[in-house]
Amino acid sequence: MTTGTADIGLIGLGTMGAALSANIAEKGFRIAVWNRSPEVTRDFVANAGPLAGRIVPTETLAGLVAAIKPPRAVILLVPAGPIVDQQIALLRPLMAADDLIIDAGNADFHDTDRRTVEAAAQGPHFMGIGVSGGEEGARHGPSIMAGGTDGDWARVAPVLTAVAARYDGTPCAVHMGPGGAGHFVKAVHNGIEYADMQMIAEIYGVLRDGMGQGAAQIAPLFRHWNEGALHSYLIEITAEVAATIDPETGLPLLDVIRDTAGQKGTGRWTAIEAQHLGVAVPAIEAAVAARNLSAALADRQAGEALYGPAPQLLGAGAPTPDVLEQALIAGKILCYAQGFDMLARARQQFSWPLPLPDIARVWRAGCIIRSAMLNDMATALAEDPARNLMLAPHFADHLMRAVPCLRQVVALAALNGLPVPALSAGLAWFDQMRTARSTANMIQGQRDFFGAHGFERVDGTTGQHGPWVRD
Ligand code: NDP
Repeated sequence: MTTGTADIGLIGLGTMGAALSANIAEKGFRIAVWNRSPEVTRDFVANAGPLAGRIVPTETLAGLVAAIKPPRAVILLVPAGPIVDQQIALLRPLMAADDLIIDAGNADFHDTDRRTVEAAAQGPHFMGIGVSGGEEGARHGPSIMAGGTDGDWARVAPVLTAVAARYDGTPCAVHMGPGGAGHFVKAVHNGIEYADMQMIAEIYGVLRDGMGQGAAQIAPLFRHWNEGALHSYLIEITAEVAATIDPETGLPLLDVIRDTAGQKGTGRWTAIEAQHLGVAVPAIEAAVAARNLSAALADRQAGEALYGPAPQLLGAGAPTPDVLEQALIAGKILCYAQGFDMLARARQQFSWPLPLPDIARVWRAGCIIRSAMLNDMATALAEDPARNLMLAPHFADHLMRAVPCLRQVVALAALNGLPVPALSAGLAWFDQMRTARSTANMIQGQRDFFGAHGFERVDGTTGQHGPWVRD
């Protein structure tokens, strides 16, 4: 094989690949690039300005491989699924056994585990890394959640830490463990993102439908909240989204956007995997369900025609902005607490290192769920990684104040028919988590009654059956 000059290669100059390639070149690395449609590669280099000198355009996969210094590393940024397998199959015969393929797309971690096993048998090496932050993050500093062997991580860490976002100078790039660990953490990140976005949308719904507020009134409220405990990327962009005017109609842009939301599957994967792991993440599940229900537009329209719209929460019945802010603070803490609970369970189940405080740290900058709270979460998890975040004193203080407001908002919404599924699910989870004696004794009684499943007595005696009264 010819010896190339590039430090790394990249396949797929779409939204993410083009932005990440420019970021890598900007940090001083030489990068060889290849795209299925060659005109995209030509345009990319033509528009790269001063970075073009560090970008090696190639028009064949063999040319790409030849352009990289051995041992070679090639990043894939193509759509997740079978296309990744096709690219690996095309690259495999062109690469040496100690070369490395890095899937930086949003892969299902089960696929990453499978590809890792296949790579061990057939070569070259393989890593799956989760990259968050969208196009802007990829261009100027994403949050990177890496999976793979220690040795492969050590090989690419210089490039990946150089391009990652920084929080107080610390790069937001962490090695999470072998195989699919990086993509698993990225999926949980996206699950939290779904829940956080849904809770924000629900508060927007209370303001819009319950209190008759327009986007122009809602935008400054979110802008104000972004200066407090809620300070986060998602609250910041919510204010901007609400403030934007549609140039065609002069109306708030929000008011002309159809209310059906898409998903690429990562939130759904998180909800499904939580069920496999036997861990409760109801706020994330509610957010996934809400996206599914958003697509049922005709049914929702028929439902409103039949049952009528929710009435407005008038006068003293309406929550104050402070109550709404506190409700959102509580909801946000609870959805992160559920996400970290899921990570803690996966850590045990899969025997992955999953460094929980570092995961909170890696999400402090660059990614979509970056928020001021994550710094305190990192501290709480460093104190005791096994303790649920809602039990950490710092967050317990917040929740003591904020949960009564969440309760007020959920109760008002329920009484008036305003949908707040993720906030309700967060609250129901909190209430279950603070109930020392649950009602599962009744479930166990029922199970033993109809199926002789047995139960454990409170004194610890197991394998018990009831002398059930059968009329
Ligand atoms: P785009 O649709 O913008 O780009 C897709 C790229 O893949 C293009 O370069 C395209 O080439 C190439 N491609 C598509 N089909 C094939 C194929 N059959 N064979 C070879 N190349 C192909 O996608 P994104 O950049 O948005 O996403 C890439 C990955 O990153 C996905 O896994 C996505 O989920 C993930 N991701 C995306 C984020 C985002 O905000 N967009 C955020 C984080 C992760 P061509 O030009 O020829 O069509």
